[in-house]
Amino acid sequence: KENKIISRPPVVAVMGHIDHGKSTLLGYIRKTNVTETETGGITQKISAYEVIHKDENGQDRKITFLDTPGHEAFSKMRERGARIADIAILVVSAEDGVKPQTIEAWKTIVESKIPCIVTINKIDKPGANVEKTKIDLAEKEIYLENYGGKIPFAEISAKVGTGVDNLLSLILLLSEMESLEGNLDENANGYVIEVNLDSRRGIMATLIIKNGTIKKGMTVVAEDSLCSTRIIENFKGEMIDEASFSSPVRIVGFDKMPRAGAKFQSFNKKAEAEEEAKKFKTSGKNKKEDTNENNKKIIPIILKADVAGSLEAIEKEIGKIQNDTAEFKIVLSGIGPISEGDVKGVSSGAEAVVLGFNVKADKSATEIAEKRGITISFFDIIYKLTEWLAGEMEAKRPRVETVEVTGRAKIIRAFSRTKERQIIGGKVVEGQINLNSTVKIMRRDFEIGRGKIVNLEKTKTKTSMVEEGSEFGMMIESKIEIVAGDVIESFAVVQK
Ligand code: GDP
Repeated sequence: KENKIISRPPVVAVMGHIDHGKSTLLGYIRKTNVTETETGGITQKISAYEVIHKDENGQDRKITFLDTPGHEAFSKMRERGARIADIAILVVSAEDGVKPQTIEAWKTIVESKIPCIVTINKIDKPGANVEKTKIDLAEKEIYLENYGGKIPFAEISAKVGTGVDNLLSLILLLSEMESLEGNLDENANGYVIEVNLDSRRGIMATLIIKNGTIKKGMTVVAEDSLCSTRIIENFKGEMIDEASFSSPVRIVGFDKMPRAGAKFQSFNKKAEAEEEAKKFKTSGKNKKEDTNENNKKIIPIILKADVAGSLEAIEKEIGKIQNDTAEFKIVLSGIGPISEGDVKGVSSGAEAVVLGFNVKADKSATEIAEKRGITISFFDIIYKLTEWLAGEMEAKRPRVETVEVTGRAKIIRAFSRTKERQIIGGKVVEGQINLNSTVKIMRRDFEIGRGKIVNLEKTKTKTSMVEEGSEFGMMIESKIEIVAGDVIESFAVVQK
């Protein structure tokens, strides 16, 4: 068989501290290298794009940029084992130098073993100090070429465009050294980088192809989500029939929301794809709740509002509702009534929250919601909405079960046992002990068994409870023989 392996374009992620110029750089490259057609005007921008740059031999070469906001690019890269990006660009402002997120990004890059180009930005600014920034980097053990290390670097102004061409050339050089390869004849695989729910079109996802070719008529699987590739769009939103490695594509019509960051595969036969999805389901991997990189549970929100102004304000407020164990993610937002398409992507039993602000729900949307047991909530005052959401987060966040000691008693006297019952006497030293409760039997701080209190007496009269400081007699049912000096502990399992 002839060797079909050829070199493939690099996929590049831009990282760095907030305000150091990541978006400006991505925007500049996009603007100067991509001729975007106005398709419809309202199509959601795909969060990755391709540019063509000439290599040292004057040949046109492609580069794919992940155009995701800072923290998202992060979490994508952090996905266990996922190598969505082939090359990382670490943006450092020459004005501010190394900042906490610079270091955090650097750690992520090192952990993922992705080659990196340090990009010193804002060199046009009067306060820029390139030399100081390089020294600053070296102090943080980020050693640039000629500064004690081998990390290639570029000095740029993302705003004016100085040095950006050189940066693109560096990317191509580095990518050549990495000898990135792929095979056009294989079926495409890669990663889901973004998921959108469109009320008109349904569930769509942006994929980055890491190898192979995706064609119309194939079936894509990402974990247990399936999609027939009837509609494939390039990053400009234009319909295409096929695409291959390193290209971002959007496909439309998933049966359920895939997970951003999930690996995808494509198959010629639908049955094979379904088989793959089944494998995932039975592997038990899907039993885990949908969590992000911090292991926080994600609660999806679908939000419709009457005007753009309130939509924006609400989105901002929702971003502020935080919890250690859960966070909201707006998976779909838009202006207008809640339509059938808005709720169609929400499966039964999902914990998604559907919200309408100053809008109503279409009859068909209400029907679907009822059928699937999805509640749609309506508001006309923003703070009421956010208050309600805070309560929802509290109700939906994952619970940890903990065992809390509610009472502790020292055994002073232990009488003989008959069968599995024993009479003992003691004193409550903490909390209270209740009749019919199950207690732990502790000897030298170790639990040696459990027992159930079947009879409880205080000053020779039957009682249902003895409190701290009181002496008692009790009959306990247990497999363990209790002796004087043991401690019994009553406990409750609480959800926190
Ligand atoms: P991000 O948070 O890293 O995406 O940073 P942004 O791209 O949003 O940039 C933050 C601010 O720095 C914006 O006001 C940009 O206009 C400005 N900025 C970014 N790059 C440059 C640059 O090269 N020169 C100058 N003068 N300003 C820049």
